[in-house]
Amino acid sequence: SVPAAILSALSASARGGVLFKGGAALETLASVSTFAFDKTGTLTTGRQELTGIHSDGDETELLARLAGLEAHSEHPVADAIRRAAEERQIEPVEVREAKAVPGEGMVGVDAEGMIWAGNERLARRMARHSAPMDCPAFLAALHDTPMTLVLMGRGARILGVATVEDQPRQTARAGLAALRARGVTQIAMLTGDRQAVADRVGSELGIAPEAIHAGLRPEDKVALVADFASRDRVAFIGDGVNDAAALARADVGIAMGAAGSEVALQAADVALLSEDLRRLAAAHRLAQRAARIIR
Ligand code: ADP
Ligand code: MG
Repeated sequence: SVPAAILSALSASARGGVLFKGGAALETLASVSTFAFDKTGTLTTGRQELTGIHSDGDETELLARLAGLEAHSEHPVADAIRRAAEERQIEPVEVREAKAVPGEGMVGVDAEGMIWAGNERLARRMARHSAPMDCPAFLAALHDTPMTLVLMGRGARILGVATVEDQPRQTARAGLAALRARGVTQIAMLTGDRQAVADRVGSELGIAPEAIHAGLRPEDKVALVADFASRDRVAFIGDGVNDAAALARADVGIAMGAAGSEVALQAADVALLSEDLRRLAAAHRLAQRAARIIR
């Protein structure tokens, strides 16, 4: 049977919006000293906004094509593109056979043939038959921009780039500070996004530069969590489909419950129903108190 101290910590925690799937996860959380966070949708709101379009051609046409492709995606980046087209009353072009490339972007077929949209890794994949990869001046100029780049192309040719960004959650900085105040020494960021974006968000939140890991594929997130777990008890906090494996690998997987994906919730041991990241430190405190009582 579950000790009374654990039961009461579980219910106190649930009242604060932190739902444990069982007493074991609460007991494990008590000994966690590394907290690894996904960025987009976890430390940030996940509500991306389009901030610019860069190309040698017609921007309206580019956005129409991009919106046509992203119409088939549920990624937060896609949502920003679709909203931007809508606001500008741009009709998306018809795109068939659209498919997601996880952690990279989308591919599909329009009236003129195959098109793609996504990050630089996808661009390199699409350009694999033609080395060196096409890098127009408008793309080179964006290299240090601390925003997510959505490259759009046809084969090896890059037609244009949209920039999108979202902001840290209001409670993110305070949430991480509260964990540190509890003696948590290792706080890391694990993201599929670009280094420049990760560095911007990380420095706003006070995360140590060496604890910021960018450009990760879902399997790279798992490998890093496993590496942390070989030294420490690790909690991973994430929201996306791409976080599911890392959530499962962590000693305690914590899914963002309000806006997170179903897959992430299923893989996790804990659901954070509140968007308030300070609740993590509160749950850690409750877990440690309960652990002290039962020992
Ligand atoms: P994360 O939530 O950690 O940023 P993902 O693994 O979901 O990462 O995606 C990694 C990167 O792949 C994103 O930052 C984005 O640049 C790109 N990407 C993923 N899906 C799309 C999409 N539908 N359209 C454009 N880019 C995408
Ligand atoms: Mg995410």
